[in-house]
Amino acid sequence: MNYPGRQAALRQALADRGVDALIVVSPANVRYLTGFTGEGLLLAGETMLLSSDSRYRAEAKVAQVTETVCEPKGHWAGIARLVREAGYCRVALEAQHTSVAALEDLGKELDSVEFVPLRKAIEPLRQRKSEAEIDLLRRAARVTDKALEDFLAGGPLRQSEKLARLDLVRLMLERGAEREAFETIVACGPGSAEPHHTSRDTLLEGPAPLKIDLGACVAGYCADLTRTVYLGTPDTTFRKAYTVVYEAQQHALEAVRAGVAARDVDRAARQVIEEAGFGNNFGHGVGHGVGLEVHEGPRLGATSEDILEEGQVVTIEPGVYLQGWGGVRIEDLVVVRCDGAEVLSQAPKSGPEEL
Ligand code: ZN
Ligand code: ZN
Repeated sequence: MNYPGRQAALRQALADRGVDALIVVSPANVRYLTGFTGEGLLLAGETMLLSSDSRYRAEAKVAQVTETVCEPKGHWAGIARLVREAGYCRVALEAQHTSVAALEDLGKELDSVEFVPLRKAIEPLRQRKSEAEIDLLRRAARVTDKALEDFLAGGPLRQSEKLARLDLVRLMLERGAEREAFETIVACGPGSAEPHHTSRDTLLEGPAPLKIDLGACVAGYCADLTRTVYLGTPDTTFRKAYTVVYEAQQHALEAVRAGVAARDVDRAARQVIEEAGFGNNFGHGVGHGVGLEVHEGPRLGATSEDILEEGQVVTIEPGVYLQGWGGVRIEDLVVVRCDGAEVLSQAPKSGPEEL
């Protein structure tokens, strides 16, 4: 990974905002800038200074930082020492990730330093992925696809949602994931009507829709995939909902291209769903950016102001949710290219004619 390039881009952004350095709290942002995967805080300025502790010596050794300090009083005490030693006057904080308590403590410790809360200092830099990052996301998608395919091929019937989840996680780990990127969702029957269902003791048994949303994490990069199948012979409700969601997703995938407004991609899917009479059954946005975190920018929703850019990696995941019956969602991971969407997810999704 091009850590020097990332660090230089941040330095420029900080100079533009007239601050000497930024205290980086978000683990994903620390990892993005330095490759450090342990617990710690980063003082990012002219140099990269890490405040961690002895538990993360191995991780600190490979991190792209100038120096690591281990302050017995804790990571924040280490940061205070580093700010004092560097002689910084204006120091930025990550407004979304820094606690009020940490800010109060720093103010007491460093009363001559001006602290400037910044929203999203690093996140915008993370949105456009390099080809090396896209390769990792492609690998994560492949592991995810394979795990789901093997799970479905094994005949997932008569076990609970919770144990099915465990199976899926095991399959992802066996195929090279370092962890699940988020808590895998296995939802059967009426539970699949909740977009973010928590897997329970409900048995996987038909006739019912089965919705699975999972993602492998490879070298820090997250995949995100949803497929919905029917256990038993699909009923008319499933056929109708599935056909609509499938077509909505096709429309949204066709709308993806660098330079397009993210809300227009949402619109492309939403229009199909509204015209089929399911407008009130699709409450969430059509997608989100994915990378070191499973939810990051850009946001693909009806009110998004984001414009898609080459190299962004996003999900396209329309759904229809019918209370008391269940839900259908189809989600793919795609790269935004100048000439359209490059779909990374390869897990089969039956077209409506195959149901
Ligand atoms: Zn998902
Ligand atoms: Zn998603």
